[in-house]
Formats: sequence, structure tokens, C-alpha cells
Amino acid sequence: MVRRPTAILSRQYEAGDPQRALEDELARQCAAAGWDVLVIPHIYHLPAGDDLLAELGELPGPVAVAAWMHVRPAACLLGEAGVEPAAVIDLGECTGPDAALAALTEALGEAEGAGSVREVEREITERWYPVIDRSRCIACGHCLQFCLFGVYETDDQGRIVAVRPDNCKPGCPACSRICPEGAIIFPICDDPAIAGAPGAFMSLDAAARRMYYVRTGRPCRACGQIVRPGGVAEGAGIATCPECGGPLPGAQGTPAQPSAVHDEIDALIEALDDIAGGGGR
Ligand code: SF4
Ligand code: SF4
Repeated sequence: MVRRPTAILSRQYEAGDPQRALEDELARQCAAAGWDVLVIPHIYHLPAGDDLLAELGELPGPVAVAAWMHVRPAACLLGEAGVEPAAVIDLGECTGPDAALAALTEALGEAEGAGSVREVEREITERWYPVIDRSRCIACGHCLQFCLFGVYETDDQGRIVAVRPDNCKPGCPACSRICPEGAIIFPICDDPAIAGAPGAFMSLDAAARRMYYVRTGRPCRACGQIVRPGGVAEGAGIATCPECGGPLPGAQGTPAQPSAVHDEIDALIEALDDIAGGGGR
């Protein structure tokens, strides 16, 4: 029996006609290139614990993956499932099925004869949860301390894991803004940096970090102060801590006034407290 490479094609969630046509044509061309093709629902929206992920982890390989998401979050999701693909391509960056096929061929080569196409069907609902980039995470625990909804826990290897991903609040990427390593990705977020786009990096500012310190009540790891709501007005002439945005000890200048940015963050903190009072989903 011929062992063929496998091309995994992760469909778009609620794809429009052009996307569906691209997927179907790409599946056909991949099979014609001699690979077995596994067409699956959007990998991010698969139900938590779906046995399809375990099945992907057991494919004999080589394997390459085409998905409608940035490469980094797709690779992270696959890595958590034990899949080590020879290539991951973002279909959103491909001009058409030929371009996608060319990228996959670089990884898989061509095989003799024709492969098969198998489609896996699932009832899929849209999900929203954090994907942790293990290559960046330093297990500092800030996300775990910050999240009000019990999404994160520490596993027996000391890794931070999203154990209750569906407790995450749809549309809330708050912990990605306080992760000091830029390790938390929300693949379907409109903000490219939060969605894990190549070359887009989260730029943490003092306001975002300050939200973390106000939220948790922990002392700033840079200046050691307990950070309180309110803040220092921009241009107030007061020396502030670059980590938490609070006035440095002994700083002289205009008395602290909440800035517009700080007001916005305080409102977000209050909103999170309100949501937490209502309990998780
Ligand atoms: S805040 Fe970021 S680096 Fe720290 S544990 Fe969470 S994901 Fe990892
Ligand atoms: S985005 Fe908000 S609710 Fe979701 S895991 Fe992060 S802090 Fe928790």
C-alpha cells in the first residue's frame, strides 16, 4: 500500500462562495498531485476535546496544512494536538488554488497516481478563546492571575493552559494585551497583532500593563508599587514607571489626574467586574 503525504484543508467558518470554490478546487488539485486530502471544519472552531484533533496527531506524515488563519496560531493549535506539519499556509494570503498548491508542493513534493479526498463533517459553532504560543510563553502566570473567568490553569508541568477555553468572553482579547511576551493569540481578532499576523507585534504600553496591576492588586514588578485606579496625565511632567505607568517614588510635578486612556481602562476594569459578578458562560 502506498503511503501518501496528507494535505489537511481546514475550511473557512461560514465560507462565502469564492472561498468554498477555492477550497474544493484545492482539494481536487491536491489529490491529483498524489496526496491524500483530509478536509476538515475550521480548526479553531472545532469543539474542545474533539477526537479529530487526536486523529490529526496520529497521521503518519508527512503532513501539510492549509487554513484560513495566520500561520502562527494555526501552528500553535496543531502543535497542541501533536501535529508537526511540514508546512502551514494561510489561505487568506493565497491568490487562488494554484498559489496554495504551489506552496504545499514545496513541502510535500509530488506523489505518483492520485490520492483520495475525505471530508470530515462536524456541527460547528463559532468559538472565541485564547491560543498560547508555547515558543513565547514564559509561564509567568500573568494571564491566569488577570482572567476573571477561570480560563487558565497551571498544568502538572508548570505550563499555563487554557483549560476552560469556552469561558472566555467573545470579543474580549484583554489578556493578550497584558501578556508581557505577546504569547496570547486570538486568531479571529480584527487586530492583526492580536490575531498573530506575521510581522505584527503587540506593543504593550504602560496603560495596558497598569490594567493588569490594578486588576490583580499585585505590586509592579519594576517599581514595586501597588498600582491604584486613576493615573498620571500625559505631559504632567511626572516621572512614571514604564512598566505600570504609576508615578515613580519621589516624582515631582503636576498632581495626578486620570487621563483619557486611563479613564478608558478604568471603565474596562469596571465592565469586567460587572461581567464577573454575573458569572462565566
Ligand atoms: S501572560 Fe503570557 S507569558 Fe505569561 S503565562 Fe500567560 S501566556 Fe505565558
Ligand atoms: S480574553 Fe478575557 S475572558 Fe478571555 S481568557 Fe483573556 S482575560 Fe479571560
